[in-house]
Amino acid sequence: MEMVMDAFVNTKSLKILKDPRQGDHVVAGDDAKNEREPLKPSTATVGDIHVADPRMTCRHVNVFYGEKRAIRDVSIDIGRNEVLAMIGPSGCGKSTFLRCLNRMNDTIDGCRVTGTITLDGQDIYDPALDVVLLRAQVGMVFQKPNPFPKSIYDNVAYGPKIHGLAQSREELDEIVETSLRKAGLWEEVKDRLHQSGTSLSGGQQQRLCIARAIAVNPEVILMDEPCSALDPIATGRIEDLMHELRAQYSIVIVTHSMQQAARVSQRTAFFHMGDLIEVGPTDRIFTRPRHKLTEDYITGRFG
Ligand code: ATP
Repeated sequence: MEMVMDAFVNTKSLKILKDPRQGDHVVAGDDAKNEREPLKPSTATVGDIHVADPRMTCRHVNVFYGEKRAIRDVSIDIGRNEVLAMIGPSGCGKSTFLRCLNRMNDTIDGCRVTGTITLDGQDIYDPALDVVLLRAQVGMVFQKPNPFPKSIYDNVAYGPKIHGLAQSREELDEIVETSLRKAGLWEEVKDRLHQSGTSLSGGQQQRLCIARAIAVNPEVILMDEPCSALDPIATGRIEDLMHELRAQYSIVIVTHSMQQAARVSQRTAFFHMGDLIEVGPTDRIFTRPRHKLTEDYITGRFG
C-alpha cells in the first residue's frame, strides 16, 4: 500500500531527463564492480524481439538478488497499443522482469538491475529521473486488488490531485468519471462514489485499481497476474477491459494461464530460468513454437 501510494507524491516531469545514453550500462544498484564481472552467456532468444515504433525498449537486462541472477540478458521491445503476455513456469523471473519496467525492484533490498530500459526513448534508470512520475506513466496493477482505505471517488482522485492534473472540482469529477468509465466500473458505482473502495467485490476492486492507474494518464499498464484472485466472470470483465484499454495504452501482463495469454495478448514472451527463451505473435507461439522449451511448456510437459 505504502509503495503504491508513494507513486503519487511528486509532480516533477520526465522531461528533466538528459538525452538517453547509448549502449549498455549499469542502470541501478549499489555495487558497480559487479557489473564488470563476466556473466555467463544467456540463451539466445528465439523470435523477433523488436517492434516498429516501440513504446519501451529493454536491452541486455540482468537482475540480481544478491549474488543470484534472476534475469539473464533479456532484450525485448514493448509496442504501442499491444498487450504483451509474459508466461513461464513458477520462479522463471516474470514478475522480476515486470518490476524492472517501472523500477519497482528499486524497493527490494539487495536487488540490482543492469542493462538499458527506455520509455519513449528516455532511459528510465537515469539518476535524474523522477521515479514517482515514472510509476504514474508506467502504472501497475497487482495480483491482489489493493484499493486505498478511502472512498471510491478518492481512490481515483488521489493521483490526479497530487499531480495537479485538475484545476477545479469539476475537472477532478470529470477525471474520476472518465477513469471509472474506461475501467468499466462507472455504471456500478456512480451512485455510491463516497462509499469505501474496500466495500466493492474483488473484481470491482481490481477495476477500481485499474481506474486509479488510468487517472494519472499512464502510457503503459503493468499487470501482475491481475485475475488470479478473481472468479471467471470477474476475470472475463478484466480481459474484455484489456482489449478496450489497448486502444490507448500498452499493457504488459504476467499470467499463469496460457488460455488467458492466448485470449488477451498480441505478443507472448516465454521465460525459463531467467532467460527469455522465445517471443513472437501470440497465435504463432501457441500453434507453432520454435523452441523446444516453449513447446514443452505450452503442451504441459512441465510447468
Ligand atoms: P511466479 O510465477 O511463481 O510468481 P515468477 O516467474 O514471477 O514466479 P519471480 O517471482 O520473478 O518469478 O522470481 C524469480 C527468481 O527470483 C526466483 O528464483 C525467486 O526465488 C527469486 N526472487 C524473487 N524475488 C526475490 C527477492 N525479493 N529476493 C530474493 N530472491 C527473489
